[in-house]
Amino acid sequence: MSKIYILIITLSVLTSLASGLEQSCSNSEMPISLRKVERILPRASPHWVGDAFRVHPVFGNLAFSSRLSPFLMFDYAAPKKFERNNRSPRGVGQHPHRGFETVTLAFQGEVEHKDSTGNGGVIGAGDVQWMTAGRGIIHQEYHSKKFSKAGGTFEMCQLWLNLPRKYKMTAPRYQGISAKEIPTVELPGIDGGGGGTARVIAGTLHGKKGPAMTFTAVQLWDVNIPVEGDTVEIPTDPRHLCVVFVRRGSALIGQDKEHAAGPQSVALMELGGNVVRIQAREKETSLLIMGGEIIDETIVARGPFVMNTQEEIRQANIDYHEGRFGQ
Ligand code: MN
Repeated sequence: MSKIYILIITLSVLTSLASGLEQSCSNSEMPISLRKVERILPRASPHWVGDAFRVHPVFGNLAFSSRLSPFLMFDYAAPKKFERNNRSPRGVGQHPHRGFETVTLAFQGEVEHKDSTGNGGVIGAGDVQWMTAGRGIIHQEYHSKKFSKAGGTFEMCQLWLNLPRKYKMTAPRYQGISAKEIPTVELPGIDGGGGGTARVIAGTLHGKKGPAMTFTAVQLWDVNIPVEGDTVEIPTDPRHLCVVFVRRGSALIGQDKEHAAGPQSVALMELGGNVVRIQAREKETSLLIMGGEIIDETIVARGPFVMNTQEEIRQANIDYHEGRFGQ
């Protein structure tokens, strides 16, 4: 008799445990787990690209390493005043690219682009240019004629985004994305404070999808927190890369808000955790949240070409010199 009682008690305990488990799993709200900061990359010293772009190589020594996949490189031209220029506009003349995408965000001033597929355009404050080099493109990047003549403050950035092997030889493509096409979402504040806003350029945030077409999942969000001390929590995919670039102002980032990031430094977040917590330490703090699906492939980069093998780099050089780029 006693054995049967024990069996019944055991069964009822197991049943109640199982139903408890079911309840916590069927809860549609994922529990929040805050992403941790792996390290802060300090502000990098600037150098000139051509005579137009005085850029900080934001990713420093980690550029072109697998740790930043799917991104390769990130150049930030901090606000800089240019005098009126009556000669030909400053810029970088014709040069090739193969195997990845260049993403240019203008914050102040104007960039003019022209490429071998016949595409081109001027991007100004708030606009984005998303160029797929794919199997090969030749382009030039200049201050716009209007900006060049008038002079003024220039601020922009360019991000290099890798393509996975199966899309490296895709046809070149140009997406000119104007500021008005980019949706803005509200970021609610926590702890009773105010929040911020995010312009969603790529990926989906709080139900709004960015206009950029991408080959792999990519997030590119331009975040502003107007009031010093306010904190926002931004959802991210725990399996994706996540980096936070402080463009203006400064912020406390991470689980216990223990990591301070100053202007032009980068917080490299650990994998895991579905929310990034950011507190502004200055008014009008602006950040770029960049993330995406990690491309688990070998990166072989030589100048303007980024492929998977040395042989493919040799082929890129041959194809470029034999005029097979940009069709
Ligand atoms: Mn280029």
